[in-house]
Amino acid sequence: MKKNLRTLSKADLQALFIELGEPSFRANQVYDWIWAKGVQSFQDMRNVPKALLATLQENYAITPITLDHVQHAEDGTIKNAVKLPDGLIVESVLIPTEKRITACVSSQVGCSLNCAFCATAKLKRMRNLGPDEIYDQVQSIHRQGLEHFGRPLTNIVFMGMGEPLMNYNNVLSAIEKITQPEGMGMSPKRITLSTVGLPKMIKKLADDGVKFNLAVSLHSARDSVRSSIMPINDVSPIADLRESLEYWYRATKRRITFEYVVWKNVNDQPEDIQALVDLCKRIPCKVNLIEYNAIGDPQFQQADEAALEAYITALDAIGVTAKVRRSRGRDIDAACGQLANKKLPAELQETEA
Ligand code: SAH
Repeated sequence: MKKNLRTLSKADLQALFIELGEPSFRANQVYDWIWAKGVQSFQDMRNVPKALLATLQENYAITPITLDHVQHAEDGTIKNAVKLPDGLIVESVLIPTEKRITACVSSQVGCSLNCAFCATAKLKRMRNLGPDEIYDQVQSIHRQGLEHFGRPLTNIVFMGMGEPLMNYNNVLSAIEKITQPEGMGMSPKRITLSTVGLPKMIKKLADDGVKFNLAVSLHSARDSVRSSIMPINDVSPIADLRESLEYWYRATKRRITFEYVVWKNVNDQPEDIQALVDLCKRIPCKVNLIEYNAIGDPQFQQADEAALEAYITALDAIGVTAKVRRSRGRDIDAACGQLANKKLPAELQETEA
């Protein structure tokens, strides 16, 4: 079987070309075609001699993703069913606003975290995505932005399917290709990694000196409530999460973003607000109040506007900005938490979504 060309680092490529008796600048050329220009076939590497391409092709493959199914929402949002080289499917979303084209990308096929309110939780976690599969989602959305809106990609959020910090190395390797000057050259300030909140991995991010933004899906700052909707909280309770975020801030001096959905009778009471206020007093942050996107479970209903207002007022009083994030792409199930791969074969779906 051919090896995946995109598992080779630049140093690997250089070693390969030396072995083939080729000048080492060929490694730069090939690297540039793969990671800056995002070509999907050897034929497109126009400045590389044909004979060398033929030799490469004998032993290596590029294995790009393909867009299996593309849906357009009324608000311009585009959802892609992304077919991976082994036939599995994940979803990616292009979110257009006046100023931005944002790519929301997946990091795993399915998810193992079982958050009660999330449609992706209904899928088995099949496997991690490779750096090339993550990078290809970004490139394809960049091309869609140019095609449909005449604008390049401006931002990336790791808020699609899966938990990015459970696929740490591949996600960081993809971000490296996206940000390095000899890759896509995008500023890490425009990238946000969203996590359920894994304290050990958050500390590792801080230690590794990453320059992108961190968002944490909090949804409650009370252990009893958070554990009832996010099983991960039994393993990593709020105190551990808080400690890791304090560590992150000390190391990076960058504010984190809390993502927070307010549900009726789940987390809309004064004690819920107080717990969040107490946490925010200790961690420099902002809060995104995400609108809930129904996935058919009656336990979860978007709270009243009054509850949102109460949160905003209480946070404002301690100088923390809280903004309500309205949903995009709901009519095509492209909104947060709705990525469930309705096209996946039945055997991969644990329960009916
Ligand atoms: N595993 C990562 C990224 C995927 S979820 C994480 O947990 O952050 C992306 C965001 O959508 C998270 O903040 C998640 O809590 C939120 N979300 C999940 N289901 C949702 C739903 N039905 N409505 C609104 N937001 C949801």
